[in-house]
Amino acid sequence: MTKASLPQPPLPDSVLIVDDSGVQRQHAVAVCADLGIRHIHEASHGAEALDMLAMLPEPPGVLIIDLEMPGMNGVELIQNLQKRGVNIPVIVASSRESPLIEAVETMTRALGMELLAGLQKPLNLLQIASALRSRCNAKQPCANEDQIAFTADDLHEAIGADEVLPHYQPKLDVRTGVIKGVEALARWARPGQGMIPPDRFIPVAEQNGLIHELTLSIAGRACAQAAQWNKRGLRLSMAVNLSPHLLDSDRFVDDISALTEQHAIRADQIVWEITESSVVANLGAALGVLARLRLKGYGLSLDDYGTGFSSMQQLARMPFTELKVDRSFVHGAAQRDHLRVILQSALDMANRLNLVTVAEGVERLEDWKLLQEYGCSLGQGHLVARPMPGEELPVWLRTNARHLRSLHGERRGATLDERRA
Ligand code: C2E
Ligand code: CA
Ligand code: CA
Repeated sequence: MTKASLPQPPLPDSVLIVDDSGVQRQHAVAVCADLGIRHIHEASHGAEALDMLAMLPEPPGVLIIDLEMPGMNGVELIQNLQKRGVNIPVIVASSRESPLIEAVETMTRALGMELLAGLQKPLNLLQIASALRSRCNAKQPCANEDQIAFTADDLHEAIGADEVLPHYQPKLDVRTGVIKGVEALARWARPGQGMIPPDRFIPVAEQNGLIHELTLSIAGRACAQAAQWNKRGLRLSMAVNLSPHLLDSDRFVDDISALTEQHAIRADQIVWEITESSVVANLGAALGVLARLRLKGYGLSLDDYGTGFSSMQQLARMPFTELKVDRSFVHGAAQRDHLRVILQSALDMANRLNLVTVAEGVERLEDWKLLQEYGCSLGQGHLVARPMPGEELPVWLRTNARHLRSLHGERRGATLDERRA
């Protein structure tokens, strides 16, 4: 499937635009109307938005919030929404400098709210469409959110019934466009409910003592898939996500090494991805598990790097083999100076520490080119492919050879201007 033929995730049915400038509000309204959004509500300041939310029969699907407003500004509005337990996905929009927008993005996430994007004004159709769709981007095909309702027992049964399966997202050599590995991402194919995304059921598994079983099930399937591809001459490194809840388990390391042996997969073909924040939060326990995994020969990837505030000193002391820069520093980096500085310094540091560098969430060609320029080893994201069932991957590789070739870096030594031209 080429990128152009990918099905577009659905847009929300309704939005609330909060902006004090009538002109800018009308512009945002026009863009949303062009996108076919049916219900577009407007408020000219934070307090009015709160009143409107209290009165609307159905909450809007997304809030588009300007930062600078008289009275209650955008920051205060977001804080108020969180205090009231309103968790509607938010797009922050402002004509102010990007570090300020990014500070508000970080604040919004830290408050536990769902942030779709921080956008620099003037807003355009593509920007808004991609931000609005990002909610469903990772969940193809999207289950209808209203229909997702399950208990921990349902999930337990589903794991036993093999309804929770990995899909695989390719990781490509950024310079050559050649596939080097995949990341296994859990999906719950629940009969009658479509595909339930991991963000919905992993927390339930973690809170109900099911994460050990779920991870072993995903890792078992991933090993079986890797073994099958190996037999066909497709040797790909296989990345599997580890929950922080497994980092203080005594049994876990033994259980997974038994599993990889059972499938005759060498430890160095598997990479365990562990988020930066979970390592920092459990440093003592995490280092024990990481050291044991590394002693067995597995690769270790520091996932979502840049979101967990680890210090460089901490990082240099941890036995990681790979650093995966969080997509919030990758997506749009070609356009935003601030992101570019962070991305480049993370990649420089990781290269100096001899780590494999991975950029996740690459959606645009200009960001991919930037990664080539900065010497990032591997890239992953919708620009290359969305996660797909294992049996589709060889077909995808065959039918996308041209697309993958187009991701090949230009001749060595080309100047920056030539490459950007
Ligand atoms: P993650 O480990 O950061 O995985 C990357 C997520 O980004 C995936 O979402 C992937 O589909 C999505 N993604 C990939 N490329 C792009 C892109 O270009 N743009 C955007 N916007 N998104 C992209 P997914 O599959 O929904 O997984 C969400 C999270 O759920 C994962 O984040 C991971 O933390 C967790 N997860 C998934 N599978 C497992 C699992 O087996 N075990 C555990 N413990 N966690 C899992
Ligand atoms: Ca991951
Ligand atoms: Ca990640």
